[in-house]
Amino acid sequence: MSDFPEPEYRRHLHQVADLIADYLAGVERYPVLPRLRPGELRARLPESPPEEPEPLEAILADYRELIEPNVTHWNHPGFLAYFATSGSVPGILGEALAAGLNVQAMLWRTGPAATELEQHVCDWLRRLVGLPADFSGHINDTASSSSLIALASARHRAWPDSRAAGVRSAPPLRVYASEHAHSSIDKACITLGMGIDSVVKVAADERYAMRPDALEAAIAADRAAGRLPVAVVATIGTTSSTAIDPVAAVAHVARAEGLWLHIDAAYAGPAAACPELRSHFAGWELADSIVLNPHKWLFTPMDCSVLLVRDPDAVRAAFNLTPEYLRTAEAGALNLSEFGPQLGRRFRALKLWFVLRAYGAAGLRERLREHCALAREFAGWVDAEPGFERCAPVPFSVVCFRAVPAGRSGEEADRFNEKLLAAVNDAGPVFLSHTRLGGRIVLRVAIGNIRTGRDHVRAAWDLVRARAVEMGL
Ligand code: PLP
Repeated sequence: MSDFPEPEYRRHLHQVADLIADYLAGVERYPVLPRLRPGELRARLPESPPEEPEPLEAILADYRELIEPNVTHWNHPGFLAYFATSGSVPGILGEALAAGLNVQAMLWRTGPAATELEQHVCDWLRRLVGLPADFSGHINDTASSSSLIALASARHRAWPDSRAAGVRSAPPLRVYASEHAHSSIDKACITLGMGIDSVVKVAADERYAMRPDALEAAIAADRAAGRLPVAVVATIGTTSSTAIDPVAAVAHVARAEGLWLHIDAAYAGPAAACPELRSHFAGWELADSIVLNPHKWLFTPMDCSVLLVRDPDAVRAAFNLTPEYLRTAEAGALNLSEFGPQLGRRFRALKLWFVLRAYGAAGLRERLREHCALAREFAGWVDAEPGFERCAPVPFSVVCFRAVPAGRSGEEADRFNEKLLAAVNDAGPVFLSHTRLGGRIVLRVAIGNIRTGRDHVRAAWDLVRARAVEMGL
């Protein structure tokens, strides 16, 4: 027995290529959110796997009928929720080829081209965003993993015994992040055994950016109480409002205190490719580690998160463990599995290589700029509209805003905005998400999908206004 014979699989690969092309060409015929209730899909699937082989034609037909219409369409240009992830055409091509190669690049020997291309595209990305040559990188699945690796390295540097004895040998450890930092930082500290209580949420200012004076005070209080500060996490582009922590000032504090500085630029990082946006990143070159997600705002399909580090040996010191069966003889070979908890690794660099080459730096900048311009335009519509207010500055491509219904405030206004969001999302052509800022529910329009154009953003605004009026704004 073996796999499918060549003429047959060639035919199916062509069919799949057509399915992907048809999907991309016709994605707007779907509502962004499928009309599916929880449990409904499983109810349509057989309870047990088939005993006898099924024809691939039947599986592909079921894919078309059951799966494709029932995904949330992240590749839809009306996807304006959370942060986008685009399966751009070059990214899809790279991902498809990676599936064909099926490389497992745990060691240089098991994936020479994958290992070297990964190092190389990380260096291209570093150059693209203007970071100095003393950063080198590797690719993880998500920013959650990248930040976990950064904080594990910081923990090891602060308390080297943690590798052998765990954290039970250490005084209470502390990691500092703004109150608006992403929950992946809390999760990393849970995973690393430091506990969620180790994350000190530093107060933010009225622009939702970390206050360096509050950071200094928190570190001093912890030191006085016998706790051990480990790392500071600054965010450039927070999840809720894309706020920018004052990285240079935070770096100054981290350096004075001898703490690891990790920058979470998971969403906004690629924007540093645009010289006019570089000022938002001032000071990030002082970091020990930086995470940027090409799968968010660099048109690379899920999953692709780049962790750039200044001292790769600090990461290796935290993670390297080479049993006999993984020892190889090649001199000068870099084994990427030494830089994190996972042994096996996918060939993620291929799709990023395709993306960086197929658009070129100029093409990427053009698209990032267009998204920022669309966000500014949307912000202008909000600012000009009675009954609406903008809730945060717009440094990148996200607008936070809310309806301010006459005679209703507080909780009542929150309920109005929640209903408004549900009504907008029910309509189908766009999908927005929400957050809480300053204690109040706000709506978010996050532009970042490569296929989103002005018409989609305008349609979103028209829908928001129309639904708000229908609801008696
Ligand atoms: N950091 C920030 C600022 C984010 O907004 C997000 C997700 O949106 C993450 C980290 C986590 O990203 P991932 O899904 O790649 O783990």
